[in-house]
Amino acid sequence: MQAVKEYMNLKTTDQDQLKRSFIDACQDPNFKSFVQSLNIDEKILMRYTSLLEEAFGELEHCQNCKGLAMCQNKVPGYLFTPQKAKNALSFSYDACHYEVEKNHAHSYQKYIDLYDIPEEMKDASFKDLYRDDKKRLPIIKYFKTFLDTYDQEEKPKGLYLHGSFGSGKTYMIAALLNELAKRNISSAMVYFPEFLRHLKSSFHEDYEEKFNYIRKVPVLLLDDVGAENLTPWSRDEILGPILQYRMDHHLPTFFTSNLTLEELETHLGNTASGVDKVKARRIIERIKQLTCDLELVSANRRV
Ligand code: ADP
Ligand code: MG
Repeated sequence: MQAVKEYMNLKTTDQDQLKRSFIDACQDPNFKSFVQSLNIDEKILMRYTSLLEEAFGELEHCQNCKGLAMCQNKVPGYLFTPQKAKNALSFSYDACHYEVEKNHAHSYQKYIDLYDIPEEMKDASFKDLYRDDKKRLPIIKYFKTFLDTYDQEEKPKGLYLHGSFGSGKTYMIAALLNELAKRNISSAMVYFPEFLRHLKSSFHEDYEEKFNYIRKVPVLLLDDVGAENLTPWSRDEILGPILQYRMDHHLPTFFTSNLTLEELETHLGNTASGVDKVKARRIIERIKQLTCDLELVSANRRV
């Protein structure tokens, strides 16, 4: 304390102050060897004492860290790091090894586009699929065949997966699409009712682009068909052409729905502007061409 008081009373130049605080910081032998390892002239280092202390503190956090959940650094997963740049010093935020591993583990997710689908579906995986009820087994078996035959010239059909609310339909198909993503196969999961609303509202903006993207994406899930507010426009100008294109180009297409195909046919036939059984029938025919029909009725897993 005495030393500090004396120091405060001294008429010193800025240069001396910088030197002083650097020397003080170097009382800690670990800090000293940290800065020495940078191999930079002390005259330069002493201009950065507080930043170097910050970087050193972050490195100390990392030494005992067991994972991202316990990260104490300013930017979680990143380490404030000094670098030698010629004979000067610069600082950057570098990802720690846990962050690098996490990004690597999830890098396949760039192959899946979600449109109003909960983010949790990005983590759906085969290994976590519930196997507690036998009703899922035919679906799992179908997925295995799908994966085994996807590389063939004639691509396998998708599924029309219907059944009760919350039984895990979306989750199961998300698990398959994640598996495909790990093999660099792109897909899109589209919450169909919202997608229609969006297309309607963006008619003059990105309408063409979105519509074409959905038509052409290698693997598509139309989620919750039958829950939309149907109009002749969405049935005949949107859904119909999407399905026709995908049929013509053998592009695997999945559907989930709370309705059976028969119920969906009734739904598609009744729009606010009247009944049109022929047009509804035509859509159902396309869905049948594109998919195998499987059911998943099970307990509601939503919490
Ligand atoms: P559905 O599409 O049939 O209405 P979801 O796929 O949305 O049902 O599933 C309902 C909830 O249960 C979701 O939160 C989902 O994450 C969870 N879930 C469903 N199936 C599984 C599973 N096999 N493993 C882990 N979580 C699941
Ligand atoms: Mg669903």
